[in-house]
Amino acid sequence: RAKDGGRGQMCLYEPLMDEKIERSRTLAAEMQDALERGEFHLVFQPIYDLSGQRILSCEALLRWTSRNYGPISPAEFIPIAEDNGLIVAIGSWVIREACRLASRWPAEVKIAVNLSPIQLRAHNLPSVIVGALAASGFAADRLELEVTESVLLEDVEASLAALDAINRLHVRTTLDDFGTGYSSLSYLTRFPFQTLKIDRSFIADLEQNPASVAIVQTVIDLAAKLGMRTVAEGVETQAQLDQLRRTRCDAVQGFLLARPIPAEQVTALFAEAAGGRDEGVRAQARP
Ligand code: C2E
Ligand code: MG
Ligand code: MG
Ligand code: MG
Repeated sequence: RAKDGGRGQMCLYEPLMDEKIERSRTLAAEMQDALERGEFHLVFQPIYDLSGQRILSCEALLRWTSRNYGPISPAEFIPIAEDNGLIVAIGSWVIREACRLASRWPAEVKIAVNLSPIQLRAHNLPSVIVGALAASGFAADRLELEVTESVLLEDVEASLAALDAINRLHVRTTLDDFGTGYSSLSYLTRFPFQTLKIDRSFIADLEQNPASVAIVQTVIDLAAKLGMRTVAEGVETQAQLDQLRRTRCDAVQGFLLARPIPAEQVTALFAEAAGGRDEGVRAQARP
């Protein structure tokens, strides 16, 4: 097609490519100032126990509202920040900010922070973590760092060393988006994760596809045998939640239970729960 399409085809493709590259350049150039101007903020999505009543942890999710370009999704700006190296500065800010905000929450609630592979392998990661914990007074074992599966195999030895360094600080690690990468199950025994987060593509498939039920069940059972907890991400329907209760994962996260919300709303949730009863954090976050 490209051949017989001639100039017409080129015209169709080139402006789109140019626009994309142009926008990436613009955002890349904007990012450093945006960080200094305070244009980034965190929202938090609660992670619940299977009853859906108790918040076990909250995942910090980064948001950028640019004064020049409006809201930009992390799916768009994080790859750009990884390309231009700013992810290390932005990611360090995320760790500090997450610890600062979460230090006001009940002591039984953990906080999950996403790590870019570039951050994972940056030599300053342990000192960034130690600094964030010291500045906030947040306990190390309440911090969970999430690493996406697909990155581990790019450099197994470096990833292992970095994860070990994190675990030596008593900070927990979570394997995020499990099932989307290429790692074989045997890798689970090599990497020292405390928690495994099952990718939402399997959860979305639970109702239609019996094979997905079998896969999810197998992953949960294997994780349990290896001493890891399991979280199901992207739970959107009651039927999915019911299925997950039968397969007995440890925790659930998704729009059905709560959307990502600003830090003040999380604090309010916990204040409400504390005013009610004394048996830990019970709450329902609604959009
Ligand atoms: P993730 O770590 O897998 O985070 C979960 C994403 O799924 C979030 O999107 C969340 O809003 C969305 N989500 C949660 N529940 C549901 C659901 O029930 N249905 C659907 N369809 N989606 C759901 P978000 O906030 O747009 O983040 C996208 C990705 O960007 C994250 O995926 C993570 O990989 C990355 N990210 C976000 N914040 C950070 C950060 O601070 N640092 C780094 N390195 N990456 C981040
Ligand atoms: Mg995550
Ligand atoms: Mg995930
Ligand atoms: Mg995901």
